[in-house]
Amino acid sequence: MGMQNPFQNTMTQLDKVAQIKDFGDDFIARLRQPDRDIRISIPIKMDNGSVKIFEGYRVEYNNALGPYKGGIRYHPDTEINEVKALAFWMTLKCAVAGIPMGGGKGGITVDPKKLSSGELEQLSRGWVKMLSDVLGPHKDVPAPDVNTTPEIMAWMTDEFEKITGDRTKATFTGKPIEKGGSEGRGEATGLGGFYVFDTLRAQIGLPNKCKVVVQGFGNVGGNAARVFVENGHIVIAISDSKNAIVNENGLDLEKVEAHKKNTGGLKDFPGAINITNTELLELPCDLLVPAAFENVITDANADKIKARAILELANGPITPEADEILFKKGINVIPDILANSGGVTVSYFEWDQNLKQQHWSEEEVFDKLRPMLEDASKKIFEKARESKTHLRMGAFIFALERIKAKML
Ligand code: NAD
Repeated sequence: MGMQNPFQNTMTQLDKVAQIKDFGDDFIARLRQPDRDIRISIPIKMDNGSVKIFEGYRVEYNNALGPYKGGIRYHPDTEINEVKALAFWMTLKCAVAGIPMGGGKGGITVDPKKLSSGELEQLSRGWVKMLSDVLGPHKDVPAPDVNTTPEIMAWMTDEFEKITGDRTKATFTGKPIEKGGSEGRGEATGLGGFYVFDTLRAQIGLPNKCKVVVQGFGNVGGNAARVFVENGHIVIAISDSKNAIVNENGLDLEKVEAHKKNTGGLKDFPGAINITNTELLELPCDLLVPAAFENVITDANADKIKARAILELANGPITPEADEILFKKGINVIPDILANSGGVTVSYFEWDQNLKQQHWSEEEVFDKLRPMLEDASKKIFEKARESKTHLRMGAFIFALERIKAKML
C-alpha cells in the first residue's frame, strides 16, 4: 500500500469532477464528509492469556440510495483515512452499479496471519459487539474485503443474530453458501471485471486476444486471471505480496496455483522468469490488472507503464496525479468503481435473496449480473465521451448524478 493519504486522493477526484460538471457547492460539500465515522477498541484474550486491544472502524459515508454497504478489511496498515476513502468509493460504486445501496466500509488494524483461529473469531465477534447498534439489514450491511473470508462473515452473522435476534441473515453478505450466502459471490468481482472489460474492449482499441498482466493472486486477481484465460486471452504475468513471475507465452494458472500451494509462493515457477512487483507493473502488455492494493501506480512510475489499457480491480490503485499522466499517454483506465462493482452487485443479490428467503442458481446470478454491468459500462463510456474526459470522471459524473437526484 502506498504512503499517500487515500482519502485526500478521493477529495482530489471530487474536486476534479466538480470542475468538469457543476453539481452545486452544497452537494459537493455534503460529500466531503461521511455521515458517520466510528472508531472502536476491541479487547481480545490472546491464547497466551494476555489481553490485547485492537483498533476497529466503521465509516457510514452516504445512504441516499439505500442502506450503507461495504466490506471490512483486516490489515496492519488499515487506518481511518483508508476506510473513509473506501467508503466514499463504495458510495459511488453502488450508484454506478444501479443497486439500492449506499456506501460504507469497515476495518481492523491487524495482521490476521499472526492470530490463531480462536483469536480471529473473538476479534470478528468483538467488531460486531461494538457496532451492533448501527448495523442491520435496512441500516448498514457489511461484506468481506482484503483478508476477511466467508467464515468470518458467518461468525459475524451469528454474533449479530445472538445480540439482536435478527434472523434474516441479511446484515452481512459474502457468507458461506450453506449459511445464507449467494452462489457466485466468490467469483463475482473478477468475473464482473471481465464483463466490463468485454463490453468496452473494442471501443478502447484492444485486440480479441489480449496479453494480460495481473497484480495480486488473491480472491479478485486469481478469479479474474482464470476468467480471462477461459475467454481466450493470455495471462503472461502474475504476482502476490512476495513475488512476481512472467512467461511471454502465457502461464498455466492451475499449475501456478499448485506451485504456490506446494512451495508457499510463486517464485521459481517452471518456465517462468522471476521479476519484482515493480517490474510486473511496467511490462509491455495489452491489459494491466491491478488487483491488490491502492496507490501502486503513482507519479513515480506512471510514465513507465507500457500497458495499452488498465482494468482497476483493486480499489484506488492509481493516484490522481498518475491518472493524468496515463490519460496524456493515451492509456485507457477502466476505473475501480465500475470495474470491480460486480462484487457489491452480487452482495446486493445475496441481501435480496436473504430478505425474500430465496436461493438463486449461479446461472441466475450471472445472468442478472452481466446486463447490469454492460449497461453501466456503455453509459459511462458515453458520459466520458460527452464530457470529453476519461472513464474515471465519466463514472464519477454518472454516479453523482444518481446520488444527487435522490438527495434533493
Ligand atoms: P485478497 O486478500 O484475497 O488478495 C490480495 C492479493 O494481493 C493477495 O494475492 C496478496 O498476496 C496480494 N498482495 C498483497 N500485497 C501485494 C503487493 N504489495 N503487491 C502485489 N500483490 C500483493 O483480497 P481481494 O479480496 O482479492 O482484494 C484485492 C483488491 O480488490 C482490494 O483492493 C479490494 O479492496 C478489492 N476489491 C475486492 C472485492 C471482493 O469482492 N473481494 C470487491 C471489490 C474490490
